Amino acid sequence: MANALETKLSNAKDVARKFLVEEITEQRVGEYLGFEVEGENVATHKFKCVDKAYVGWNWAVTLAVVDQSSEVTVSEILLLPGDGAILASSWIPWEQRVEPGDIGIGDVLPTAPDDIRLVPGYTGVDDLFDEKLTPEGWEVGLGRFRVLSVPGKDQTAIRWYEGDRGPRAAIAEAVTDKCVTCGFYVAISGSLGQSFGVCTNKFAADDAKVVSIDHGCGGHSEIVVDMHSIPTGGIVFDDNNLDTAEVSDEEVVEVEVAEIEEEDDDTEVEDLDLASDVIDESELDEADEEN
Ligand code: SF4
Repeated sequence: MANALETKLSNAKDVARKFLVEEITEQRVGEYLGFEVEGENVATHKFKCVDKAYVGWNWAVTLAVVDQSSEVTVSEILLLPGDGAILASSWIPWEQRVEPGDIGIGDVLPTAPDDIRLVPGYTGVDDLFDEKLTPEGWEVGLGRFRVLSVPGKDQTAIRWYEGDRGPRAAIAEAVTDKCVTCGFYVAISGSLGQSFGVCTNKFAADDAKVVSIDHGCGGHSEIVVDMHSIPTGGIVFDDNNLDTAEVSDEEVVEVEVAEIEEEDDDTEVEDLDLASDVIDESELDEADEEN
């Protein structure tokens, strides 16, 4: 049941609207939406905001009163989001927003001391008695205080395998020859080397990148192409698009003279050939008499 002060605040709806219109202008204040008690002496009246820039938002006018004998006063006016209000995305800490591949030139990204991707490196005999080291975590860490942990290796293997250089990449699914039998495949050291290596084919799209053993591409070292089975067409002359050149009358005459001389030479050769076919019949008669 409302007490006297709440009733006094509730009845001050017109006070709230009057003050709101004075501050905001009549055009931006819409219908009355209701009343809400905030505390013993404080309550808020709400009005619809009809400003096109704030669709779905509502005006909130908070009133206060000291006692029954005092006047109601306005504490604050503000906009509150209602149904359908356009809101900014919720805040996400920066360390949760960084994604693989985000580090650019000049960027610095510190790695947390408790990052599960790393474990202390095995740098000496004393490390054998370090409780933080487990047998599967032992890895020579000369020059490195931390080395890749088992979870770190697992995450890496999954990310690489499911990425663009794994077996499901489009370039790999288009061929039957896989990296595991390719001469350009160089396995990396450590346990990740069981499934991954580096491509060293300078013509391949994945040259110098880590690829899975069941990745592949058309640059596989053992692919053989039967060159003779590739059909080729004859030479085609496009006589619809002739190149033209300016030629002087003298040049035309020279060409014609040269062609006539060439024809004469051919005629002489034919005459010689015909002459060699003529048989002297007197020589035949002499030969018969000797026989
Ligand atoms: S050339 Fe192709 S098949 Fe060979 S290692 Fe590189 S990606 Fe794999």
